[in-house]
Amino acid sequence: MFPALRFTEEEVADYLENASSAMVRGSLARARHDWFDLLNLISTAARPHLAEMRGVAQLARRRYYGKTVSVYAPLYIGNTCVNSCRYCDFRRQRTGTVRRNLTLDEIRAEANAIRETGIDSLLVVAGEDPRVNTVAHLADVGRMLKSMFSNLSLEVAPQTEDGYRELFEAGYEGLTCFQETYDKSLYREMHPAGPKADYDWRLNTQLRAGRAGFRILGCAFLLGLGPWRREAASLAAHAFYLMRECYEAKVQFAFPRICRVDGGFVPPCEVDDDDLEQMMLAFRIVFPQCCMTVSTREKPAFRDRIVQTAADNMSAGSRVTPGGYAVDAREHPADVAQFTLSDGRSPAEVFAAIRANGQEVVFKNWDNRI
Ligand code: SF4
Repeated sequence: MFPALRFTEEEVADYLENASSAMVRGSLARARHDWFDLLNLISTAARPHLAEMRGVAQLARRRYYGKTVSVYAPLYIGNTCVNSCRYCDFRRQRTGTVRRNLTLDEIRAEANAIRETGIDSLLVVAGEDPRVNTVAHLADVGRMLKSMFSNLSLEVAPQTEDGYRELFEAGYEGLTCFQETYDKSLYREMHPAGPKADYDWRLNTQLRAGRAGFRILGCAFLLGLGPWRREAASLAAHAFYLMRECYEAKVQFAFPRICRVDGGFVPPCEVDDDDLEQMMLAFRIVFPQCCMTVSTREKPAFRDRIVQTAADNMSAGSRVTPGGYAVDAREHPADVAQFTLSDGRSPAEVFAAIRANGQEVVFKNWDNRI
């Protein structure tokens, strides 16, 4: 569980099991919500209330985000990694695959290809390789890209507070760091070696970034590793903690799901579409002001539906291999992607689907160049 929580895993499980329909209705009727409302809304007792939850979540979403959906693209700048995460194809032990780190010129070419689609918000992603992706290198990348995009975010190895200060100065505004699991013993099992084996260092990543000035603090666990209701209870506690400690920043939720593929990692606790929808609706209701994103791990139909009720932000036309947009856009049999894409639509097709739902595509809602 999230360490600052005053409740044990057993107490949380007990609460979730004993939540009633009346408690769910009470949480749906309240104007302001706390952590117990989140528990009520993710409980099994809430499952028959999904239709009502959709209505309440949609209203909350419209109050804060209107009929808009912000779009972004990830740019993978490298896939070498010193960690051994059991579920990831970028892990150090995996052999026979193409490993590359893009040069600044290649990164610019990739960024140009993304920019041509109209996308103005970029997430820079890299495997954890301290020999290559130093703060100085990431800062160089940020300084180059900030003149091309209105908003830059980072999903790379956790850094020190001073490191984040330098990266913020270089132009990054947002940070994403998945905790993967809040269960310490499961965390140890999934991350047997490398710097990522340090649970506490990773857990306090958003806190260090928030103190360094980052405006968006992205949090998530990896859906499929541990029981999702227990992990969601910890994620909510983590978010409340960050909202207190870094009150000038905005928390962003993501719900990355491990989707089973032939020969791939088999998630021990699979999460189905109804589970995922219930969780996203619950978080939208309890945290109406927070950002929420849905990635191309999910299928088009699910993404198009959930951006109307819960998520306010989605990726479009994602490529999850370094060089995938322009440098080496052709398929390569030894290419390794960090996860399997379930939505292969082009950015234009994603924008058209958003508009077909009566929503407006937002390319820019922030400008770090002013
Ligand atoms: S999840 Fe991240 S840190 Fe772990 S192996 Fe993959 S790229 Fe490396």
